[in-house]
Amino acid sequence: MRKLLVVGMDGLNWPVVEAADMPLLKGLVAEGAVGHSLVPCPPVAESSSGPGWSTIATGVWPGRHGVRDNGFAGARYAEFPDFLTRMSPRYRTYSAVGWAELHRQGTFGPAVGVRVTFDGEADGYGSADASVTADACGRLRDVDAAFVYLGSTDDVAHTVGTGAAYRAAAEEQDRRLGEVLAARGPGEWLVIVTTDHGHRVPDGGHGGCREDERGTWIVAAGPGIAAGGRPSGTGQVDVAATALYHFELTAELDGRPWQEAVR
Ligand SMILES: [Zn+2]
Repeated sequence: MRKLLVVGMDGLNWPVVEAADMPLLKGLVAEGAVGHSLVPCPPVAESSSGPGWSTIATGVWPGRHGVRDNGFAGARYAEFPDFLTRMSPRYRTYSAVGWAELHRQGTFGPAVGVRVTFDGEADGYGSADASVTADACGRLRDVDAAFVYLGSTDDVAHTVGTGAAYRAAAEEQDRRLGEVLAARGPGEWLVIVTTDHGHRVPDGGHGGCREDERGTWIVAAGPGIAAGGRPSGTGQVDVAATALYHFELTAELDGRPWQEAVR
């Protein structure tokens, strides 16, 4: 039975991953593939969460999904739905987020089988991430495909920049990743971990065209993903394409499935 877990870690710079104690994510890198790319920036779209997660969820670039900033004006999710919506109701789908906009705006839409929303803006992202993790651990045995969102990294970088506290937040999220991975039931799991944008070093912040705020990455491990793969020419749009390919589903997306295109 094919299964899918996509974990989103908001606003996490890859150099911090490399410097941090993140054994679970690094284990996935070792057994799978990692690709690095840059997200679009103005005037195409801000290097921000709204456009970033929309591209990851839909598999098409902002010119098609329509989200250019965190206002979400012009979103075309009905035309370009998220990968979980494309799988529903044939498969049991689930998304858990602490940035409520992702459900409120329909980035992961109402057709997703179970959507669980926590409010990191009101309750803090440490609390929201803990709630998301606990919820995911309780449900993962009963779903076929899941998106799990962790937001502390972004929140910490906005508050205190990209130093020691940011690294600690990344390490905490790796522990949460480990909890979620351990809660999986049996099956042929494709696991993808990714981020929506980077942060300016050292003060934090994003939205513009600097390379550090545009930097993003995808880690994928599972059936059909070449171990040790270090593909070039990847992009955020590959997440949905790779996720759907795992279930032998196709759609006219901008992304490439890594099982096919990446060697
Ligand atoms: Zn973000």
